[in-house]
Amino acid sequence: MRKIIAIAVCKGGVGKTTTAINLSACLAAVEKKTLLIDFDPAGSCSGFLNFQSDKIESGIFKVFSFAKSITQVICKTELDFLDFIPSDISSPEIEERLIRLTSYVYLFKNILNSPELLSYDYIIIDCPPSLKGLTSIALIAADSLLIPIKAGDFSILALKKMFEYYYWIKSHYNSQLKIEGILRTMYESDTKAWAMTNEELVRGYGSYILNTVIPKNTTLTEAEFFHKPAILYNLKAIGSQAYLSLTNEILSGNPH
Ligand code: ATP
Ligand code: MG
Repeated sequence: MRKIIAIAVCKGGVGKTTTAINLSACLAAVEKKTLLIDFDPAGSCSGFLNFQSDKIESGIFKVFSFAKSITQVICKTELDFLDFIPSDISSPEIEERLIRLTSYVYLFKNILNSPELLSYDYIIIDCPPSLKGLTSIALIAADSLLIPIKAGDFSILALKKMFEYYYWIKSHYNSQLKIEGILRTMYESDTKAWAMTNEELVRGYGSYILNTVIPKNTTLTEAEFFHKPAILYNLKAIGSQAYLSLTNEILSGNPH
């Protein structure tokens, strides 16, 4: 059964894009046919994988404006089992137009239900750090929500907001939406900040916390410079191994 996972939380710089790329690459490495979609107008995922907006002809937003079909914007990557759809927002005008198009709340869901996309095992959506608009329609189209967070009180506040939003989407538009889990990123086990964050997490969201943690690991950032997922840059690095563990946990677990 195909699964669509949206990676989202209303906080910037918590590892959404890093998780989207590395989880997708690890799923592909274990031969799950995976499609990664850069759904953030900032285009970090596209930049990371070397599909900068000046180099690409089209991406997901051409599909939204009916200028291209979904199959016309799918790009191959260096992993056989991983395909990619870039973000193609090249100007503020296009972003404005796109935001207007997101008022058709089931448009993205309908696009992802195109027959050509049914053969994927996983579709991973990298969302922007805001809630309205693109994140909404991604959650309406998704089967589950994966929430990366890093240490800190602001992260707990963002998590609270994200859960409120999740329940709102679930009750109004997508009753099937589940929580894939809360993923602790940039983890440092010996810090007071993480000890306090863990306490809050266990108190408020115990059953949603994934066992895997992604440690703070510079290999994950270095890999950006080589435009490669970490497993293709340095398989032995603790960051690569952590994303492989996350992949196993997601493959074997049941979302809530
Ligand atoms: P935005 O909200 O701006 O889209 P994001 O949530 O997608 O941000 P990323 O772009 O994935 O976050 O990560 C932010 C920065 O943190 C990047 O420079 C990335 O390399 C770094 N980073 C992410 N995860 C880790 C990690 N586990 N260890 C060290 N650095 C990390
Ligand atoms: Mg991002």
